[in-house]
Amino acid sequence: MTDFACPCLSGRHYQHCCQPLHDGLPAQNAESLMRSRYCAFALGKTDYLLETLAPAMRQSDDREQLQQTIEQTQWLGLQVLESSFDGNDEATVEFVAWYQDTPLGQLHERSRFCKIEQRWYYLDGVMLKPIKPERNSLCFCGSGQKFKRCHGR
Ligand SMILES: [Zn+2]
Ligand SMILES: [Zn+2]
Repeated sequence: MTDFACPCLSGRHYQHCCQPLHDGLPAQNAESLMRSRYCAFALGKTDYLLETLAPAMRQSDDREQLQQTIEQTQWLGLQVLESSFDGNDEATVEFVAWYQDTPLGQLHERSRFCKIEQRWYYLDGVMLKPIKPERNSLCFCGSGQKFKRCHGR
């Protein structure tokens, strides 16, 4: 079953969105890689998360750390706020990833990505202050409801 809505909330089915990347196709840009990594967190694809981490940043306990995060976090939605690309081999993507918690959890991060031999990798990220969602705008989870009537309740 791969014809479900992609967890990265692109509006496309998984098989036409993040699946080809999870199967080994290089991401076209840093934002697609970022989306596919969020999606890998949501689907528990630890190997993909390890493979797309910049080789220089890898640590011996990465797998355990990732597995713990995957087990403990229920992701609710992704919002990409800004992407920038230096035209060469570095890019940043600012995003908010929402997760189940009380109160509502969010990871607001600006991530750095690097391109090595035509492939994008996640380098590192800085955590930013939480954002305050507009109560009358559409909820980040893709339900089509206003935030105040959905996860903002
Ligand atoms: Zn996707
Ligand atoms: Zn919602």
